[in-house]
Amino acid sequence: MGTISGVEVESVLASEPVSPDNLAYTDSALAAFDELRTAKSNVELLHASHRMWCGSTCSRDKDCHFLHYIRPECEGEHARAPRSRYNKDTSHLYGLMGGTSYVPNTQQTHRVNSWPLLDTVLTKADVAREHNGMLHCDYTDWSKKNDMTAEQTVRYLCRDSIQWMGTWCGADYAASLAGLHYLALAAITDDICIPPLDLLSQRFRMYGFSARDVIETMVNQGWGRDATHALLALVREYLLQYAEKVDFGKTPKVGLHSALSQSIEVWDSVVYRTHTANCYGVGIVVCRIAGSSPLTETWLNDAAICDCVSMDLCKSTLRIYQHDDHAPTAGNAKDVEVNRKAGYHSVYLDLIDDLVFSGAPESAVHYGRAGFLFVQIVDRYLERRAGHRFPIRPSMDRELHRLFGDEPTDTLLDGIFRLRQLGNPDHSPQSSLSPALLSVCQLRQQQRRLSYDCGTVCKSEESGIGTYRDSTCSCARDWIDRVHLLGQEAISPSNLQELISEKLGAFSLSAAKIASVGPLKDIWALCVGCHVHCGGRCEWLAFAEYAWQEIWAGAHAHNVCHADGNPDITT
Ligand SMILES: [Zn+2]
Ligand SMILES: [Zn+2]
Ligand SMILES: [Zn+2]
Ligand SMILES: [Zn+2]
Repeated sequence: MGTISGVEVESVLASEPVSPDNLAYTDSALAAFDELRTAKSNVELLHASHRMWCGSTCSRDKDCHFLHYIRPECEGEHARAPRSRYNKDTSHLYGLMGGTSYVPNTQQTHRVNSWPLLDTVLTKADVAREHNGMLHCDYTDWSKKNDMTAEQTVRYLCRDSIQWMGTWCGADYAASLAGLHYLALAAITDDICIPPLDLLSQRFRMYGFSARDVIETMVNQGWGRDATHALLALVREYLLQYAEKVDFGKTPKVGLHSALSQSIEVWDSVVYRTHTANCYGVGIVVCRIAGSSPLTETWLNDAAICDCVSMDLCKSTLRIYQHDDHAPTAGNAKDVEVNRKAGYHSVYLDLIDDLVFSGAPESAVHYGRAGFLFVQIVDRYLERRAGHRFPIRPSMDRELHRLFGDEPTDTLLDGIFRLRQLGNPDHSPQSSLSPALLSVCQLRQQQRRLSYDCGTVCKSEESGIGTYRDSTCSCARDWIDRVHLLGQEAISPSNLQELISEKLGAFSLSAAKIASVGPLKDIWALCVGCHVHCGGRCEWLAFAEYAWQEIWAGAHAHNVCHADGNPDITT
């Protein structure tokens, strides 16, 4: 027994681990977490988590089973679950994946070693991170629902998580709060681009809990190596997700996805896709809750792949799939794409039959075909099709409060997410923030992108931030610096408001004065820009300069310290 968010939870149903005993790392998952959190860079994190999976002798080629899946021949056994009705013999009756039909002997081997690709992207990201603290993609919104706040995105994602659990585990959807929270952590990175190091440092939290809290609960509840598998699969997911998001754009620099999808064979993309969705880690949670007997490595991987591909198959019939940023069947020519779709479809049909006929437990088989169910009834997909959010029903709102808590986000996440919106030039941020400050945000954002592309330091002086401060009188400069420092102390929007209205003497910024520059939540976002990475010329310094010029410069020049013509007497 244990508690999370004050709710008492039952111990999960499986008493033995469901995951295979194949990890190099055998200490507890919490010790693994604490070892991984010492990683200073994304590349270091990748290699540290990989060593825990494969050991130190892995050659990091196509045979590495951390990034790849080397699928053995499947042996026939006594089937324990009924065969899917949607199978090789019925698929020609329907029009899934563009009406492609089953192709026997579709390749299930890797063509591309994704190690050098991943190393290259993450090295690039690390260089940019070292220069600028924060990357252009960090905490950007990928949900395509035009959410106004991070709070909304997180709350809706947790709704999705409860709904997914219902489709996988039925009445046991809340049997493991740690499992449910793990699922939410795994899924959120699809909607918000979260730097992997922030997952480990626990800067990133949902409803107050961090990844470490979840792993700790799993360990305390006796998950054993299931928790280690879950942790490493989560870290792998975050790194792969980050690699595709940091390099996303009209002209990707490394082009990881195009390298994976050059040929008509689709296995490389199948496995990458499955790992970026972390169907592996979530599969362990689902099978544990079902009290499943131990799974072989093949069953677990096959069920994960099938869960992921069945989702895409169903999305294709509902015309949601075509809007995916990283569609695994995308190819560089029309005929390549048709072949890849057929291959993708056929991999599912092969694997779901193999799962059944090799005797996988029903929970794993059900997980593998659940995409056909959840895409139709989880609100997430229906909202994607409708292009807007639906209201959360009262019964679901109660579940959210019971299973997750009352506050989806913290002030840091609110601020960074908002800062990203303000800086997005392609998307109107719907803000009444002064246009001068909006353009500062956009400029800083463009510089971060450029800095990733070119591997250089952001030329912060080109943003114009700090120019006024450097050229004005010393009392103005002192005021600007004081505001800058007060912002670094602030822990929330209301605290910020308090500090700058009470601690600036005669030249204070009252609530009304702040409101004349923009809404407090946007001002707070600028302040968080300084918290995350100041670099001396941050968005918050831009605010201080702007506020002085707009609010106090006039009065100050007339009567305070320059009345006798002396430009340099401080207040
Ligand atoms: Zn390996
Ligand atoms: Zn509520
Ligand atoms: Zn002065
Ligand atoms: Zn700063």
